[in-house]
Amino acid sequence: MADPFLPFTRPTFDEATLEGVIDTLRSGWVTSGPRVIELEGALERYLGGGRRVLLFGHATGALEEALRVLEVGPGDEVIVPAMTFAASANVVLRVGATPVFVDVDLTTRNLTLDAVEAARTDRTRAVMPVHFAGLPVDLDPLYSWARGCGICLVEDAAHAIGARYRGRAIGSFGDLVCFSFHANKNMTTIEGGAISLPLDRPEWIARLERLRFHGLRKNTDGSYDIEEAAGKHNLSDVAARVGLGQLTHLDAFNQLRRSLAERYFERLESNPWDLGLPARGDSGHAWHMFTLRIPFESLGFDRTEFQSRMRAHGIGVGMHYPALPPLTLYRKRCRWQPGQFPNAERIGRETVTLPLFPAMGVSDVDRVVDAIGQALGSP
Ligand SMILES: *Cc1c(COP(=O)(O)O)cnc(C)c1O
Repeated sequence: MADPFLPFTRPTFDEATLEGVIDTLRSGWVTSGPRVIELEGALERYLGGGRRVLLFGHATGALEEALRVLEVGPGDEVIVPAMTFAASANVVLRVGATPVFVDVDLTTRNLTLDAVEAARTDRTRAVMPVHFAGLPVDLDPLYSWARGCGICLVEDAAHAIGARYRGRAIGSFGDLVCFSFHANKNMTTIEGGAISLPLDRPEWIARLERLRFHGLRKNTDGSYDIEEAAGKHNLSDVAARVGLGQLTHLDAFNQLRRSLAERYFERLESNPWDLGLPARGDSGHAWHMFTLRIPFESLGFDRTEFQSRMRAHGIGVGMHYPALPPLTLYRKRCRWQPGQFPNAERIGRETVTLPLFPAMGVSDVDRVVDAIGQALGSP
């Protein structure tokens, strides 16, 4: 019998989580309530204290409202890596500001302080580092530079729940750190996200609570007032109950991801096709994804063909991501010239995402690597 199809990612839920979801549904309170408060507290403890965590309906909304809290708007610029998911740049446009792209490192796929410094103008109001695939950006120099110029960071930590930078959990320090709990991420609430921010910023916390829910401010007598035409980003208790179950497994999930990534390195480190392996990082890497660069131009076939050859072996291969500046929306606004972001553009042409999720075993990695050998053929 043929092996079952191996997708590039798949969430894992235990029985206790499934039962907890049913209990929550039966409880009569299904939208934001006690389970949301419980998950916020659990995430605050997980990050190690000293932080407020606010759950959101998705990271995209969390990132957008984080920019609004910083009063980023028309005329302002936000520095964003050219290699990330579109949400990182879209939210900048949605608050009326301009994303200023910077190139990334070819192996870490993260932005660098040199590029950020070169892109800074007197309109720069924020920088959005993306911890690509769960590998933390080198934050200490970036924060000390940003402090020196009075610029805040909105960290896109969509890939980085459970990641650690120099021993500290991503989200346990820093300005506004946004996580995603989308179904593909390292832990999930199906759809969902969160912002971690410092406790000594009560004005940011209060504003985010209003931005998350209709601009509503509760009065002490139980009545309420509306202060701005805000959107709606609250998470449901049903989703939060999924997240509570996921969080208990997060470190174990990430450990499994790390050992699968190690196996990919073992099998792919010396290869005859000149494959570009990702940066290895250290034990703080959350291994949200294992991405590989394949030099399709010299191989004589394209990524679509590679993906269909892999599919014929029962293996799903993802693509994260096309470089952003060449995409229609940004190309015009940012007057993109081909070759302007050489690393991001090359990654965008060459990248493939190999299967990596906690329910996989080492034998699945071996199966993927064997299939890559057959799909690429002799060099
Ligand atoms: C998934 C993702 C987002 C958006 O997360 P949602 O929770 O789906 O809104 C933002 N940035 C990056 C880098 C992502 O991968």
